[in-house]
Amino acid sequence: MLEAAPGGKILAGGTDILVTLNGNAVPDDLTLVHIGEIAELRRITETETALKIGCLVTDTMLAGSAAVEKYAHALWQAARESAGPQVRNRATVGGNIGTASPAADVVCALEAMDAVAHIVGPGGERDARLGEIITGPKKTSLARGEIITELTVPKGASAFEKIGKRQAMTISIANAAAWVELEGDTIRALRVVIGSAAPTHVRAAEVEAALTGQKVSRAVVEEKARLAVHSISPLTDQRATQWYRTEVVPVMVARAILAACEQGGWNT
Ligand SMILES: Cc1cc2nc3c(=O)[nH]c(=O)nc-3n(C[C@H](O)[C@H](O)[C@H](O)COP(=O)(O)OP(=O)(O)OC[C@H]3O[C@@H](n4cnc5c(N)ncnc54)[C@H](O)[C@@H]3O)c2cc1C
Repeated sequence: MLEAAPGGKILAGGTDILVTLNGNAVPDDLTLVHIGEIAELRRITETETALKIGCLVTDTMLAGSAAVEKYAHALWQAARESAGPQVRNRATVGGNIGTASPAADVVCALEAMDAVAHIVGPGGERDARLGEIITGPKKTSLARGEIITELTVPKGASAFEKIGKRQAMTISIANAAAWVELEGDTIRALRVVIGSAAPTHVRAAEVEAALTGQKVSRAVVEEKARLAVHSISPLTDQRATQWYRTEVVPVMVARAILAACEQGGWNT
């Protein structure tokens, strides 16, 4: 159906697409294809090394999953801190990616955890990382008719940080997620992803490089987290100024890394 209709669009939970349609003139050729009742796409399953998360899994399901809390802590935190209860009941993982917002919370956590999306379309099936799918604000590389069906999220130690204008029901002024692999107290590998501070989520490559091989300490992490400003290009918008985002991002990056290290067994 999506392939046949030139204006075909997937409707999952509808918390983004209906807002867009309410705000703009509805295109004449719009065809909404509701996938929300496909039970096979609304499942969380576990393998030895990864969690498999169907595209229709909602934020409420993520936040209520003991396996997600334990093995994908950043994702669990991002889901809990997204929106409010009513929206979380409908908002899906696939929709968070499909919207391609630089402020998306679940995307931030998934990218830090190196999640791989399984995509099914008229041309066959393929796997892609989120950085390859989301190419700009509201832009994806998904071809007509392609659906993200499932995410494979490797199990690991991770944490998520978000700052908004309020404590709840708030879009991120900035968000950050970190994934870490420790050997004793030493960082063997690190991924840090920042959202709402550039046209897409970005990796804090300089922070990752500066901390890899280092022994974890609050002082070292806070110092190296300052390098995060080299990875971002924040704007001033209705939520915050460029100055504020530049100040707050290193603080959030440090907090996310330290919390991920705690998840990995490091004790302060
Ligand atoms: C009041 C409010 C508060 C919000 N707060 C937050 C917040 O704090 N943090 C946050 O990150 N977001 C927030 N959002 C945004 C929204 O809830 C999320 O992005 C949500 O995950 C979107 O999922 P959905 O199922 O509702 O998507 P839909 O609206 O159904 O779809 C969104 C887009 O993704 C596409 N799509 C959907 N599923 C797929 C799929 N499987 N494969 C490919 N494309 C697909 C659709 O075609 C559409 O373009 C908020 C929204 C509202 C209305």
